[in-house]
Amino acid sequence: MNEFALIDTFFKTLTHERSDVVLGIGDDAACLNVPIGQQLLVSTDTLVAGVHFLEDWDAYDIAYKAVMVNLSDIAAMAAKPCWLSLALTLPKLDRNWLIRFSQGLKSALKQFDVALIGGDTTHGPLSITMTIHGLVAEGHALARSGAKANDKIYVSGCLGAAALAVNLESIPIMDDADKQTLMTALQHPQPRIDLADILQRCASAVIDISDGLSADLNHICEASQLGAYLSLPDIPVHPLVTKYLQEKALDLALQGGDDYELCFTVPLEKEPQLLDLLAKAGLRCYQIGLMDKELGLYAKTEQGEKRALAARGYSHF
Ligand code: ADP
Ligand code: MG
Repeated sequence: MNEFALIDTFFKTLTHERSDVVLGIGDDAACLNVPIGQQLLVSTDTLVAGVHFLEDWDAYDIAYKAVMVNLSDIAAMAAKPCWLSLALTLPKLDRNWLIRFSQGLKSALKQFDVALIGGDTTHGPLSITMTIHGLVAEGHALARSGAKANDKIYVSGCLGAAALAVNLESIPIMDDADKQTLMTALQHPQPRIDLADILQRCASAVIDISDGLSADLNHICEASQLGAYLSLPDIPVHPLVTKYLQEKALDLALQGGDDYELCFTVPLEKEPQLLDLLAKAGLRCYQIGLMDKELGLYAKTEQGEKRALAARGYSHF
């Protein structure tokens, strides 16, 4: 099987149709219809074996996670994902691996109505680069720079589970069901596309928590030229993190990456509308602090003291 047969067998057939794809896989470039009044959002993420996933993971999970990580960047702009391209570098042509990979890709794309529109296939150390394209009504994309002093800071879900899953071996006794829950958090994160409409109406700035809450919130602070004052007892720590690593639970929630929840800021006057829309949608987000004129990250401890907080998180270099 050569490169072209590989593309035809595993990728050309897997994608489901979207009427806005004029030309997809098989041409030199994809041709897409962007509706009038909408803006195109484009974002790329690479996943490298040994860094973002282990080579012995089921290829289904590798593909699934790669898609979700990319979709999370579209969620963080309060937009809807549409089209994905895939640049795949493979160490060898392993049919069974490719079957599992394309199955994971297919289910991830179907779940969010995203079409695979092209890509590139090369030989080398295993790595997956995806470019996701999304759409948003003109002027409604949310940037990191939009926060104002006294805006409330929210997170969209519990934190720390993926970071705990990375260190499973360090926990001697663990219930099998709990282990499974943690691995699912790591391998099958769910990007918060469900919040897009609500955030467009209520939020002033958004970021996805891929590198850790403190590091990612710090990006909102820097882009908005503000600081953040967090209330540590209000940070939603994943219950399994508390169960197995009580003494480090808050650190994992603040600094552990790979959660793919959103951190966003909300002007005070929009907060009632936010809570109303969340309740109607059956969703829950957690208020964890306030944006502040004083630059930097600060935290209020359980004893009510204010202390500086390091913006620690994952960094490749
Ligand atoms: P070119 O030689 O013009 O770069 P390729 O031979 O790399 O084209 O690719 C042929 C077609 O298959 C193109 O439409 C390309 O977008 C698509 N393609 C290549 N690799 C992949 C992949 N891994 N997933 C999806 N589509 C792919
Ligand atoms: Mg090529």
